[in-house]
Amino acid sequence: MAIHILAVVGLIFFATPGWRIMVATGSLAWLGGLGVTVCYHRTLAHTALRLHPAVKHLLIFFAMFNGSGSPDSWTANHRQHHSKVETLEDISSPSIGGFWWAHLRWLWQAGKIPLDRWCPDLDKSEYRFWRRMQVPLLAVSLFGGLAFGIPAFFWLGPMRLVMSLHAQCFVNSIAHMREAREAGEDSSQNVAWLAVLHFFQGENWHRNHHAKPSSARFGWKLWQIDFGWYAIWMLELVGLATSVKRASMRGPSAI
Ligand SMILES: [Zn+2]
Ligand SMILES: [Zn+2]
Repeated sequence: MAIHILAVVGLIFFATPGWRIMVATGSLAWLGGLGVTVCYHRTLAHTALRLHPAVKHLLIFFAMFNGSGSPDSWTANHRQHHSKVETLEDISSPSIGGFWWAHLRWLWQAGKIPLDRWCPDLDKSEYRFWRRMQVPLLAVSLFGGLAFGIPAFFWLGPMRLVMSLHAQCFVNSIAHMREAREAGEDSSQNVAWLAVLHFFQGENWHRNHHAKPSSARFGWKLWQIDFGWYAIWMLELVGLATSVKRASMRGPSAI
């Protein structure tokens, strides 16, 4: 609630903070989004590739700085979502709990996810370290902009965090609200306009992803822009990403 109120205040009083602050805000949000889609989602949750440890931890830093939580809890929640999709155990399904449940409420109302059940492979000191860093990192993320003035505080802190939060939440809500579906199909859908909020990093091609969750590539068609995939492709080229899984791109990629 607090960051939402502060974000609205910032938007009203500091709508044009100057290009430096806007570029810094966009860059942090962009790197945070990349951290989530490339590292949290494709690497840790689905093991669709392996990242060089330096790249992996750098991306974890930016994902956490963007308010996405620790890598182990993100991974556990996401693995549960995939394996229990559209059932009572799918904690973020709009068809079970409605839009607001899927969008946001589950985050603080679903209770603590059992990490030992969903991500025993992440029970390592390198990930426990990041869990301990969550509060101090978020404090710097929220208040760090103050060092550069009041407009920077609002843009780099609450406004960036609110935008990044809802961009991610839309994947659980809007990207799971396909009405027309066959019996047994899940509700995931590709949502083209959501690409804008995700800086075209690929998370919006959610139906593709549910069809082939082990693939490191979310955008299957040439026009389905997927900067997460382009980043992986470049990292692989220079040896910083390995064991990259490319599932066959034939399948239900309807939009
Ligand atoms: Zn999903
Ligand atoms: Zn997934």
